[in-house]
Amino acid sequence: MYSLEERDVKFPSAIRKFPALHGMSEDESISCPICGSGHLIIKSMLYSVPFFNELAMFTMKCDTCTFTHNDVFSAEDRPPGRWTLRVDNERLLRVRVVRSSSGTIRMPDFGIDVEPGPGADSFISNVEGVLTRTRPVVETAIRFAEKPEEKARGRQVVTMIDEALAGNLDFTLVIEDPVGVSGILPEDMSLVSYEELTKEEASNLRGAPGWIDTVRDEYSERKG
Ligand SMILES: [Zn+2]
Repeated sequence: MYSLEERDVKFPSAIRKFPALHGMSEDESISCPICGSGHLIIKSMLYSVPFFNELAMFTMKCDTCTFTHNDVFSAEDRPPGRWTLRVDNERLLRVRVVRSSSGTIRMPDFGIDVEPGPGADSFISNVEGVLTRTRPVVETAIRFAEKPEEKARGRQVVTMIDEALAGNLDFTLVIEDPVGVSGILPEDMSLVSYEELTKEEASNLRGAPGWIDTVRDEYSERKG
């Protein structure tokens, strides 16, 4: 299996706890974990998403350097889950995908697992967006690969991703999330399969954050 971890910046746990949810208003900010001199501007957006009701997307941006980070939360408590979609039609590239910072993306046809790194990015996008975001991760892995056969395998995966983006290659997309925020959400829910993960399966996933319940509670309180 070709396993990838996103090479993202690491930042202090204080930021992972989302000061925006701890009584700070949007115009207040905290110091940037990267440059140290700038301040983070934190904005939140609410999305209404079928099946999830409401998701909150947070964007943090340094006012001095280029540091940005996104994360997404579900207002309601959700069990760990696995979503599977067979993308056998070009139209399915448009299916909505939510990926939280604890979501693991698997594309078994390409032999790819993208596990969340410490600063893994969250997004609300679609299947096409998953492919276009995965492509540079594979390219980075190719650059870091030491063996020629690893580089060749990586280039093969990039070619497959390009074919899938052009609608010429069927593939299966799987997203697993220990906090249940990530999902694959076609308008016709019969296209996608959903199963709850066991505690054991969930605990084997990377990026299961211990603070998520606190954050969710505070978010619920704020929402009133
Ligand atoms: Zn900065």
